[in-house]
Order: sequence, then structure tokens, then C-alpha cells
Amino acid sequence: MPFWDKNIETVKEDRLEKLQLKRLKNIVRYCYKRVPFYRKKFDDLNLRVDDIKSLDDIKKIPFTTKNDLRNNYPFNMLAVPFSKIVRVHASSGTTGKPTVVAYTRNDIEIWTDLMARELYMVGVTRNDTIQIIYNYAFFTGGFGFTQGAERIGAAVIPAGVGNTKKQIQVMSDFGVTAFTSTPSYALHVAEIMEEIDINKNDLNLRIGIFGAEPWSESIRRRIENSFDIDAYDNYGLSEIIGPGVCIECEEKNGMHIWHDHFLPEIIDKEGNESDKGELILTTLTKEGMPLLRYKTGDITSFIEGRCSCGRTHRRISKIKGRVDDMLIIKGVNVFPSQIENIIMKFPEIGDNYQIIIGRKHQIDTLSLRIEVTPEIFTGSDIKLRELKEKIEEELKSGLDVGVKVELVEPMSIERCIGKAKRVLDLREKL
Ligand code: ADP
Ligand code: ZN
Repeated sequence: MPFWDKNIETVKEDRLEKLQLKRLKNIVRYCYKRVPFYRKKFDDLNLRVDDIKSLDDIKKIPFTTKNDLRNNYPFNMLAVPFSKIVRVHASSGTTGKPTVVAYTRNDIEIWTDLMARELYMVGVTRNDTIQIIYNYAFFTGGFGFTQGAERIGAAVIPAGVGNTKKQIQVMSDFGVTAFTSTPSYALHVAEIMEEIDINKNDLNLRIGIFGAEPWSESIRRRIENSFDIDAYDNYGLSEIIGPGVCIECEEKNGMHIWHDHFLPEIIDKEGNESDKGELILTTLTKEGMPLLRYKTGDITSFIEGRCSCGRTHRRISKIKGRVDDMLIIKGVNVFPSQIENIIMKFPEIGDNYQIIIGRKHQIDTLSLRIEVTPEIFTGSDIKLRELKEKIEEELKSGLDVGVKVELVEPMSIERCIGKAKRVLDLREKL
């Protein structure tokens, strides 16, 4: 696949590290000088800017958390006077009060270039028409993809979210070749296509880029089959820049993190360096709201070794979930993504499911409502019961905890137009 900026994408590792170190020293100095929050943190620890002499010295710097951003709501983390800000976005607020982020002109420029790098890398060119099915209100997804696609010269359809039938009509009428949305919404689009009898062969699609929520390899296969496209995972978060932090290349085996702008680390629960755990990101070039060692709350691991695409920027695996997504059921840790991996392997399973946590006699219980395909639902009761038992068995051996399964009618679980809400926690209400 082509390179948007071959020099930087394939730069030798030692040169990349030198660039990172130079930028790290700069951003640390910049934060100390301009952000009272960081100055105080450094002073409290007796940490001096000059103590950061190597990339490894980053470990001396304390973490920045989502709570720090909330405590400094809305603009107390800014490193520039507000007159230098040209755009303000906010996170989706999936885990509480949304955090606010602000961009200078230069931040927007870098973001646009990174988005162009990512889209070009998965094959989007000036000859493509890309439908952007992300929210444009506050959320970074809509704008980020628009900027990058326009820079490449592709034709942007700023479709926004909702009105699924119209989305499909546009896809068909405008000869759309690429689209981007959450993976769960893509599955919903495929469902409605069936309902209104528009076939994937009626469409011109080649490429899909999906993110903003965790999704499994089985979901990737379902999406690729439903639209006859290549589906790529991309990850980002508004606090760091929005989408544009990393994306999969044609290998579809891990996402390349753009090391010229972000310095990634992974830590375990105790905060020590680890191969697997929470992703920590430091922005190396942000002007408006630079962040040092930001705890993303997202769980992943590094994929070691050079990628055969030729890019030298290290890869991370698909995001497994958020630290606070982890469910503790009868003392066993369970991630919703583990459940998805197990159930989606059954071809009889439809495209939507819901995880329900309850409490019975002071003990937490886990149950699942899973949609099945229309054929199975209207088929024999015995088959349906056998399927349910088979799924329960697989879950028990995969998770080490018993799960009650209810198989339900297609389309009976509510659809979301943005990030899917898979977990229903009834415990507080009981
Ligand atoms: P919020 O945390 O309120 O949802 P954002 O709208 O900025 O804020 O979304 C960023 C978050 O979305 C990430 O921290 C991560 O949890 C999730 N996310 C984004 N892209 C992916 C992806 N490709 N896979 C899994 N999760 C993702
Ligand atoms: Zn690669």
C-alpha cells in the first residue's frame, strides 16, 4: 500500500528515537513553562525539566488522568492564550463528564496530515468518495476524517449519524467507495440493507475504516462479508488528538502508532512498564493542550517485530476494552470483548447482543441476551435450545464463570447510532 509520507513512515528506528527524544525534551519544557498544572506537579516532586535526558526518563514524570482534565474543566490545561485556539472539541462522555480539548491552527494542521496519512495508507485516493458516518457535533470523528480525506483530494460526504435508510441510499446513488463509522453501526447498516433489499453488489464500496469502540475479528469478518470491503481498525481519543493516533496497515495485524507525534507506553496495574495493560500516551508536538503520560484507560499490548509493510512505527494490538469496562463476576475478571469473541464465532448468532449484570442474594450474576439469525429464530425449538446450551458451555469454559443465555429475535435489541452500549448494569437499581 502507498505511503503518504514515506520518509517519516519508514524512518529508521534510531532516527525516530532521536526525533522523539528531541521532541520529548521540548514538550516537557513547554509544559513546565506554560501549564501551571504541570509546573506544580514537577515542583512538588522536585523534578526538573533537565532531568529528562533520555526517552526512558519519561518514567520520572507523573501520569495525567481523565480526572485531572475534569478538574481543570474547561480550559485550565491550555498551554496557549485562548486567542491562539481555533477549534474546541469534546469527548463523547462515555465514562462520565465529557473532557474538553482545544486546538491551535498548527494542531489542526498536524491532525489533518495524520488523518491523510492514515486514509492514504488504507487505500483512499483522490478518486474515492468517502461517506463519513460520524457525529459532527463536538465529537472529533466527523471533522478528523473530513480534514484528512479532503487533504488527499477524495470527495467527502459528511453524512453524520442516523437515518440509516438515507445513508444507504446515498451510498448507492453517489457511488460511495469508502466509509467510516463505528463497527456496531456498520452492522446495523448491513441489516437495513437487507430489509430494503439493497445488495452489496449494488454498491461500489472497497474500503471501510472503523473505530471509536472495541470490535473483534469475527465482527471484522462479518462487516467485510456484508459490504465486500476491506475493513480496518483505527484508534484515537479526543484528549490526544481524536482519530489519527494509529491505524492498521494492509496486514491487519496491529495498528501503527505515529511515533513522530505520540510516545506510547504500556503499564500494568501497579504502574510499571509491561507488554500488556493500559496504554499511556504523551503528545510530542501538541501546542494547544499537550499531555504528558496521559492514562488512556484503554487496554492493549505491543506487537513486537518489524511489520512487513515497511513502516517502522511500533504497533499495538486491537483495544481489548477500557480499564473500567472490566466486570468482576464472582471474583472472576471478565471483559465484554472476551464475551464477544466467544459468541460471535457461532454463525447462528445475529449482529447484536447485550450483557446484563444483576445481583441475586448478594452475588453478582451475568446474563446475555443474544440475537440469532431469522432462520434459527423461526426454526425448531430443539435446535434453539441446543444452540443456547452450546453457547453457555463455551462461555463457561472460556470465562471460568457461568453465564445465563437468552436467545432473542433479530432486531429486538435497541441499536445505537454512535458507540454501542453493550453492558446493562442493573446492580445499582436493585
Ligand atoms: P469517550 O472516552 O468519552 O468515549 P472519545 O469520544 O474521545 O471519548 O473516544 C475515545 C475512546 O473510544 C478511547 O479512549 C477508546 O476507549 C475508544 N476507542 C476509540 N477507538 C477505538 C478502537 N479502534 N477500538 C476500541 N476502542 C476505541
Ligand atoms: Zn504495517
